Amino acid sequence: MAQYVLAIDQGTTSSRAIIFDHAGSIVSTGQLEHEQIFPRAGWVEHDPVEIWDNTREVIGQALSKANLTRHDIAAVGITNQRETAVVWDRTTGKPVYNAIVWQDTRTQPIVDRLAADGGVERFKQKVGLPLATYFSGTKIVWILENVEGAREKAERGDLMFGTTDSWVLWNLTGGLEGGVHATDVTNASRTLFMDLETLQWDDEILGIFNVPKSMLPEIKSSSEVYGTVNEHSLLREVPIAGILGDQQAATFGQAAFDQGEAKNTYGTGNFLIFNTGTEIIHSKNGLLTTLGYKLGDAEPHYALEGSIAVTGALVQWLRDNLGMITSSEEIETLARSVDDNGGAYFVPAFSGLFAPYWRSDARGALVGLTRFVNKGHIARAALEATAFQTREVLDAVNADSGVPLTELKVDGGMIKNNLLMQFQADIIGVPVVRPVVAETTALGAAYAAGLAVGFWSTLDELRSNWQEDSRWTPELSEEESARQLRNWKKAVTKTFGWVD
Ligand code: ADP
Repeated sequence: MAQYVLAIDQGTTSSRAIIFDHAGSIVSTGQLEHEQIFPRAGWVEHDPVEIWDNTREVIGQALSKANLTRHDIAAVGITNQRETAVVWDRTTGKPVYNAIVWQDTRTQPIVDRLAADGGVERFKQKVGLPLATYFSGTKIVWILENVEGAREKAERGDLMFGTTDSWVLWNLTGGLEGGVHATDVTNASRTLFMDLETLQWDDEILGIFNVPKSMLPEIKSSSEVYGTVNEHSLLREVPIAGILGDQQAATFGQAAFDQGEAKNTYGTGNFLIFNTGTEIIHSKNGLLTTLGYKLGDAEPHYALEGSIAVTGALVQWLRDNLGMITSSEEIETLARSVDDNGGAYFVPAFSGLFAPYWRSDARGALVGLTRFVNKGHIARAALEATAFQTREVLDAVNADSGVPLTELKVDGGMIKNNLLMQFQADIIGVPVVRPVVAETTALGAAYAAGLAVGFWSTLDELRSNWQEDSRWTPELSEEESARQLRNWKKAVTKTFGWVD
């Protein structure tokens, strides 16, 4: 009997393979970063071939570190950066263009064109999303309109689209030799094309976007056997049995299975997901309606989501573009060199502002500067930006649900930062809680795959794997927290209207 499940976490900055045991503990990890390609202001691309090569390599790393073979792996789960669009040629197996990443804003003119008739919310009732550059549908249109020959090939049925889950799945299951072209409901719910009720592609919207249906993957549940590994000899014949978009995977990995449960992930961006059970709830406060998960034939679970484009990415920017720090961790030391933000507020509206504002005309601003402000204050303001943005999203979730969250479960790369976690608790006024297994994204994908093949049998079994590691409780006075939040909101207004 195989004792382990392997999760592939195809993220924005890196691809990881993580092997979990039955208790949900990490046995080994392989990880490789891929190049972030910035061809112009606002454009962000990845090379899909590099991503696939890295995926194969990290699987090998994880297996060999733990001294395991394919016979030890019961199933493979996939989780992925959502909305990032790959379009490849059915006849050659090669991408026709780089992957256009979720943060990329080049499709603004396409969004404006589509919104001219009915506004940005014209499809929101059906698909849960406003028209925005963020979602993959607009990126497919850009490729069809701008890559030479793409439109003709697509009309002939020769192009395939996928988010990176589909790209990895197709390659793992054999690529040109019988690759499976599928995705799960959570990824499909980020395209702008999936009807939230029927869980199928919507012909009317596809017609308006002028995207041929033949390009699209088949929509499946998040937990079922999609196929077996073919091409990748290391995992040959192992079933691929779980797919969840990264944020939904983290929610699942946090065991937030039921209505009213939530988590907040701190990565390149931040994503708060609130499970609304089997009910579709439309936000009145700038949140998205999205799929939470669907296990095989069971009813789907829906969620409200507050997406923030830039949180950890601001730390990367201070490191890579300004050279203020040499590693992401260093920001904490720098921020601790001062007592507070010195009056500075940093609104990282680099890709416009997502939830709860959805202002694509916004661009970043650093305000409140005086000669007193130094690098330490800027580092602190950068970290605080993550906490303030989360506070605004949490307010929206609480307003929509009517029942305020009493604590916030967190995960993601930034939660190693104790200064940030304490400030987060201070600014939201409820405790922030971190689980022992912080790799909840990969864990969620492993859970979905393990459930499908009987490696795990019930959600309760998974819930009992969740253990608390640390907890931060609010220490700042309510008055001071409210004062800082007021300043933050004032700073946000300074970013509006930079793009005509
Ligand atoms: P993703 O899944 O989006 O690729 P991760 O969850 O791996 O992201 O988190 C990586 C992000 O976290 C990066 O943007 C990095 O700058 C940030 N980060 C990592 N460590 C720290 C730290 N100690 N303090 C602040 N930010 C950090």
